[in-house]
Amino acid sequence: MVADKMMAKRSQYLHLLRRISQFSFLLLLILAPILGLFRIDILTGAFVIGEYQIWFADFAIIFGAWFLIAGMLVLSYSWLGSVFCGWACPQGLLAELGTGWMRTLLGRKAELSIDGSAVEVARRKQKRGNWLLLGVAFVAAAMLFALIPVLYFYPPLTVWHFVTFQRDAAMPLSMYWIYFVCCVVMLLDIAFIRHLMCQNFCIYRIWQHSFKTKETMRIGYDALRSDECVKCGYCASACAVDLDPKHTEVYSGCTACGECIVACDRLHAGRGEAGLLSFMFPSSEQEPAHMTSMAGRFRGVLPFLLVGALLLAFGIHTYRPYEVSVGNIGARNTGMSDYVVHLSNKRYRATDVHIAVGGLKPHQFTLQQSEVHFDSAGMVNVALHLHADAIAHGMHRFVVRLMSSDGWREDFPVQYYRVGDR
Ligand code: SF4
Ligand code: SF4
Repeated sequence: MVADKMMAKRSQYLHLLRRISQFSFLLLLILAPILGLFRIDILTGAFVIGEYQIWFADFAIIFGAWFLIAGMLVLSYSWLGSVFCGWACPQGLLAELGTGWMRTLLGRKAELSIDGSAVEVARRKQKRGNWLLLGVAFVAAAMLFALIPVLYFYPPLTVWHFVTFQRDAAMPLSMYWIYFVCCVVMLLDIAFIRHLMCQNFCIYRIWQHSFKTKETMRIGYDALRSDECVKCGYCASACAVDLDPKHTEVYSGCTACGECIVACDRLHAGRGEAGLLSFMFPSSEQEPAHMTSMAGRFRGVLPFLLVGALLLAFGIHTYRPYEVSVGNIGARNTGMSDYVVHLSNKRYRATDVHIAVGGLKPHQFTLQQSEVHFDSAGMVNVALHLHADAIAHGMHRFVVRLMSSDGWREDFPVQYYRVGDR
C-alpha cells in the first residue's frame, strides 16, 4: 500500500519532468549555435565546433564523431525505444503545445486537420477572441521555432541583427527567404499536422524502431486488475498517437511519453493506489526468439564505438588549423609562371601568417605580399609570379613556406618546368 502511494505520488511528477526535459532540449538546440558548440558555415561548407572549422578534409573527426554518436544513439533506441520522441523532440513539443492551446481555447473535441473537416468548437468557447488568441499563439510559436534552423546556418550576431531589424552587411537576402519558408512550414505543422507527422511521416521514428530489442522499454499493464478498465479508456484518450496503452507492442508507435501512466495514476490517486500502467523492461524470454537481445546489440555496436573513438582521437591529434595549396594559373599565356597561394585560417581568431619562397633567388619571383593578416576564419589568395627570363630552362623545385604567429609552419613543395632553350 505504501509502495502504491509512492508510485501514485511519483507519477504526478512524470508530466512535469517530461516538460522540463523537452524544454531543456529545446534550449540546448537554441544555445548550441549561439554558444558556438555547433553550427554550419554555409560560405565554406564547414561544420563549426567552438572556434574551429571542421572541413570534409577532416574526415577522421567527422566519421569518428559520427560513429560514436550514432553508436550511442543506437544503444539508447535499443534500451529506451523512441524515448527521444516523447522526451526531447522539438516536433513532438510543438505538436503537444499546438494541441494543448487548441483544446484550451476551442474545447476538448476541437481538431484542426488537413482533411478540411469542420472544427467542433465547444459552445461556451465560440468567441472570436479565442480564435484570434489561438492564431497569435500559433504564429508566435512558428516564428520562434523557425529561428532555430536559421541559427545553425548564419553567425549568431547576424541573426541577432536580423531579429532586431538592424542593418548588417553580412546578412544575405537568402536569409529572409529561408526564414520565411521555415515560418510557413512551422505554421502548417503546429496548426494542422502536429502528431500526424510523428505517426505517418517521421523517418527518424522508423530509424529508431529498427533498433528495438527484446528488452526495449515499453508500457507495462497490470492485466490482473483489468476489471478496473471496464468502461474506462482514460489512458487511451491521453495518448497523442492514438494507441491503446494497455496493449503496446515492441514495434508500436509509442513514444514513451508516459502520459497514459499519468492519466491512469490520476484516476487512482483518490484511492491512494498506483495505476495499472508503468514503464517496464521485458525480459528476453518474453519476446520472440528472432529478435535481438540487448547484450547482442551491445556486442554489435561496440566495434563502431571503438573505431569512432580511435578515429576521433586521431582526427583531433592531426587537426590542421590552416590549409594551404599552391596552384598554377595562366599556363596558357605565361608558360606556367603564375601561381596562386590559397591560404585558409580554420579558426575564428585573429592571426598573422608570414609567406616566403625557398629554392629560388629573390630576382626570380615576385610575391604579391609576404604578410597576411586574418581577423577571423577566412581565406586569402596571394599571387606568386616567376620571372621566366631569369630562370634557366628545365625542371626546378621550390617551396612556399608559411609561418603563423601562433607557431604553425608548413612547406608546400612546387615543381616548375621552365620551357625554352637557355
Ligand atoms: S486509464 Fe487505467 S484503468 Fe482506465 S483503461 Fe487505462 S489502464 Fe485501465
Ligand atoms: S502509449 Fe502511453 S507512453 Fe506510449 S505514446 Fe501513448 S500515451 Fe505515450
